[in-house]
Amino acid sequence: MPEQLAGELALIDELAGGQAADWDVTGELPTDLLRTLGARGLLCAQVPQTYGGLGLSSQENGELTAHVGGLCSSLRSIMTSQGIVAWAIQRFGDRDQRRRFLSELTGGKLTAVGFSEPGAGSDLAAMRTRIEPDGDGFTVHGEKKWVTGTRYADFVLIVGRNGDGDGSAAAVVPVDAPGVHIELVPHPMGCRAAGHANIRLDNVRLPATHVLGGGGQPLSMLFTTALSYGRVSIAWGCVGILRACLNAAGSHAKQREQGGVALAEHQLVRRHLAEMFIAEQAALRACEHASRCWDSASPDMGLMAVLAKHVSAGHAAQSAATAVQLLGSTGSEDGHVVARAFRDAKLMELIEGSNEICQLILADHALSISDAHKNRDDAMQVGGPRG
Ligand SMILES: Cc1cc2nc3c(=O)[nH]c(=O)nc-3n(C[C@H](O)[C@H](O)[C@H](O)COP(=O)(O)OP(=O)(O)OC[C@H]3O[C@@H](n4cnc5c(N)ncnc54)[C@H](O)[C@@H]3O)c2cc1C
Repeated sequence: MPEQLAGELALIDELAGGQAADWDVTGELPTDLLRTLGARGLLCAQVPQTYGGLGLSSQENGELTAHVGGLCSSLRSIMTSQGIVAWAIQRFGDRDQRRRFLSELTGGKLTAVGFSEPGAGSDLAAMRTRIEPDGDGFTVHGEKKWVTGTRYADFVLIVGRNGDGDGSAAAVVPVDAPGVHIELVPHPMGCRAAGHANIRLDNVRLPATHVLGGGGQPLSMLFTTALSYGRVSIAWGCVGILRACLNAAGSHAKQREQGGVALAEHQLVRRHLAEMFIAEQAALRACEHASRCWDSASPDMGLMAVLAKHVSAGHAAQSAATAVQLLGSTGSEDGHVVARAFRDAKLMELIEGSNEICQLILADHALSISDAHKNRDDAMQVGGPRG
């Protein structure tokens, strides 16, 4: 790990360590903490140094994300959203937009990203929000649901339909623009301090400079690009949850005695610990592979992001449940690290492609592999034996 990153992790521990339980209970993160971390480039750490970012690789940002994920999933959720927006700006913004908005994001401004709508959850193709040219600017009209980080955001990246057919656009919408109405999601089950909100956009007028690349990107390309970043980020966040659960379970098993011996002496408890360790390692390896694909711009990138997210979220949800089981009543207290992990990890199985949606994508790939194998076998039969 680069020395600079080790220093930043120590700073995060100093600023954010030991407070997640309180934030979970109050349902709020300190905005000054978010701005401090944002202004150090830590909320979207892959942004290149030219734009004031840290220019971390996906692998390095992954370790940073896992570290934060182990401390507080709400804070990690903010990082994921900020990173998705930064990546979308980097990918779809023109030169001026990259310079302006990325510098704002690495300078302490906060953001969020709105894809989901009342009628468009897993099926983002059902999106109805429209971003249309209007005079010398654009108008945004529609509704977004469960947008993480809105409570703290200066602007939200809104994705909507643009033009005919599959056309879409992503618009930078300041939260104080006339026509933006925000309603916080009350008492979410997990990531309680992540500031989720529903947003109504009533004919919000924007200058043309606020629509990334002028719009017109195919919708599937826009959300697949953005979601790939989000999937890798969430997957690494789940590694953090897995590590936090493993640590809590391991130390409890050593300290707590039942039947005259430490829990760790009971074979069934040891099996739980072994399973949690296997889960953490499996998730870590899937994340490392996805990040390697990202860093080498491999064509497998999108698929490996889905795989890493699916593996890590499933293991985190299962291991958090196991950790609560192992800690018994101690782990059932509100605010306890494993109780919080149990609620937070479950939500990771729903977002950025639910378990089922990830399975459908992976199944499509499995079928394409078997088709490719069949075609190769057929071709060999036609060509006859070689050699
Ligand atoms: C904590 C949290 C944070 C979020 N943050 C954001 C955010 O920042 N920005 C944003 O835009 N959205 C956000 N969302 C919304 C999130 O993206 C959606 O919840 C998610 O896409 C699932 O959509 P849905 O809730 O409408 O469920 P639905 O799509 O209605 O799905 C319900 C169930 O049906 C299953 N299902 C759906 N379609 C199929 C199918 N074809 N085959 C099999 N099963 C299927 C799903 O897997 C799921 O189990 C967030 C949600 C949560 C819970």
